[in-house]
Amino acid sequence: MSRAKKVRFVLYSIPLLFFILVLGPASCCFEAKTAYSPPDALPIVYHEDYNIRFLGLEKLHPFDSAKYGKVHEALVNERGLDGHPFHRPAEVTPAQLRLVHTETYLDSLKNSDNVSYIAEVSAIGYLPNRPVQCQLLRPMRLATGGTILAAKLALNEGWAINLGGGYHHAKPDRGEGFCVYADIPIAARVLWQTRPELKVMVVDLDAHQGNGLEMCFSNDVRVSIYDLYNDQVYPRDEDAKAFATVDLPVPSGTAGAEYLALLERTLPDAMDQASPDILFYNAGSDVFEGDPLGYLKLTREDIIRRDAFVFEQARDRAIPTVMLLSGGYSKESAGIISDSILNLLEPLQDSPP
Ligand SMILES: [Zn+2]
Repeated sequence: MSRAKKVRFVLYSIPLLFFILVLGPASCCFEAKTAYSPPDALPIVYHEDYNIRFLGLEKLHPFDSAKYGKVHEALVNERGLDGHPFHRPAEVTPAQLRLVHTETYLDSLKNSDNVSYIAEVSAIGYLPNRPVQCQLLRPMRLATGGTILAAKLALNEGWAINLGGGYHHAKPDRGEGFCVYADIPIAARVLWQTRPELKVMVVDLDAHQGNGLEMCFSNDVRVSIYDLYNDQVYPRDEDAKAFATVDLPVPSGTAGAEYLALLERTLPDAMDQASPDILFYNAGSDVFEGDPLGYLKLTREDIIRRDAFVFEQARDRAIPTVMLLSGGYSKESAGIISDSILNLLEPLQDSPP
């Protein structure tokens, strides 16, 4: 063990021991609660356990792992959705995970070192696997279950928003970029179990290329992928690019006017060409000008306009739409997302497509 590793090990061992012995057994891996679908007009999916709290280890990653709770809190407390019955998902099941992921990959998650690579927090590799499963992977399995639930809600009610998910870097045989489970491909395959003819479109407007979902869907003729992203940052995955139906790389520093003009010029045609039965909208807020990882220059207003444009275009074509939060790493992300969702709810609340 190197000197640096030894220092890190000592730093983390004391609180971790406390966590494992005292807090772990009480908070770990309790039974998933039964999902329910109240007949309300605002299909938003959320579970308080989406949020990752890992004795401060989550602070070692720029990803704001409590973003989901902050969005929920802002919607409830500041935006007047107090008392709103949010839809509560169950964890994605092992059988559903195996619809996309290989058994070898899923088994590899029982090794904390492998998870630390995906989460990009090396200290996680020193932990026993049990707390890693409970405090890091279970929230992601819940959010993946949330994407499945949101997809089913969208088909019934016209649209739905999952306050999580959008793990678009996860591939069938590996995770990367903080994405463990490929929630969108998994949700599509769950829908295909009963409706195998369903045509799926993914509109991926996260700042990063949706390489994982591109590899998961590969050449499936039922799927169209529209991907607008900064190609000068991670993951620069040339192999995955081949599977995007519409591949729109933009350079770092692209501002809102240029970005939105490109979107408005190309998305309507892409939707017409795809003519999908369901649309997954990966609405990453890491296109924000203050984001530390996206390197694009959209303002808060640009992002609200972007989200509204996607929903309007889908609504005009009566395409059921599932929105997922995906990336967004600045402290402003939660506020931008909640403002945007409230803006989406205004026209849609009374007349879903
Ligand atoms: Zn991203």
